[in-house]
Amino acid sequence: MATKKHILVTGGAGYIGSHTCKALAKAGYLPVVYDNLVYGHEWAVKWGPFEKGDIANRDRLDEVIIKYRPAAIIHFAAYAYVGESVTDPGKYYRNNVAGSLTILEAMRDHGIDKIIFSSTCATYGMPESIPILEVHPQNPVNPYGASKLMIERMLRDFDSAHNIRSIALRYFNAAGADPDTEIGEDHDPETHLIPLVLDVAAGKRPEIIVFGNDYDTPDGTCIRDYIHVTDLAGAHLLALDALEQGTPRAEYNLGNGQGFSVKDVIDMASIITGRKIATVAGQRRAGDPARLVGDSRKISKELGWKPQYNDLETIIKTAWKWTLKQ
Ligand code: UDP
Repeated sequence: MATKKHILVTGGAGYIGSHTCKALAKAGYLPVVYDNLVYGHEWAVKWGPFEKGDIANRDRLDEVIIKYRPAAIIHFAAYAYVGESVTDPGKYYRNNVAGSLTILEAMRDHGIDKIIFSSTCATYGMPESIPILEVHPQNPVNPYGASKLMIERMLRDFDSAHNIRSIALRYFNAAGADPDTEIGEDHDPETHLIPLVLDVAAGKRPEIIVFGNDYDTPDGTCIRDYIHVTDLAGAHLLALDALEQGTPRAEYNLGNGQGFSVKDVIDMASIITGRKIATVAGQRRAGDPARLVGDSRKISKELGWKPQYNDLETIIKTAWKWTLKQ
């Protein structure tokens, strides 16, 4: 039997990283998880070896790269709390930007020439028009989005100078859980709408605070584009195949192209769970655009991405099964 190709997955013990490891294993790769476990969970590492380490630790990265000789890197490791990035920007620039630079330099020195990067719709900032296309101006409004945009810029420069080819995937709102309920979302602190709403349904939290109900949207609450984490994971596989086949560097949006309001999410969660979900009207959250909806036709056209779980009902149903399993 041929030995499996190793793929180094930084942040592979996190939410999207662990779902991608499952998809990698299913496709015949061996995912090697590299994670400092600050936010990741060792229980989420199920499909390959675990190597504890920080992306900023060049010596440790060298050791792991020499041990496994990965064919490519899928780079999820990052801090991702928008609010914290505003109050502690240094933490975001040091970890996300400098850490990614350390990875790129290690790739250059070890001759690894393929990387898939977790970028975000937060690189667009306040959108000029909806749905957002990849060519839309990128003007992030917080250090988190800025840190991700800086990494996209570094990827371009490392491609030009060192032939490190990359695909940056700009996620919209990742949600849902593994349909087999083996893994799911588990952030501490949790700030995302769907898991918080489901925690209220499960009786783990008293209520959900709706951040603003006076936006210029049909029901006054913010509209987002929710994408199932397994569909996101599938996109990483397609990106890996494309890089293996020699495709040039690219950036792709990843959303469903459909917007749902905070109220839509709460109503759907209430139907699925059969429970009443207490809501409280709260203040707008700083930096929240009224609408964020992505146009993902580019990745569908160029890489053949086809989401399988692209309805809000399935997204919330899988997340609810996971909440109940917790
Ligand atoms: N939201 C909310 N209450 C919460 C958490 C989130 O009303 O307790 C809203 C938030 O303002 C946004 C949407 O839900 O409009 C999705 O927020 P989330 O933090 O899940 O993702 P984001 O869009 O910020 O990446």
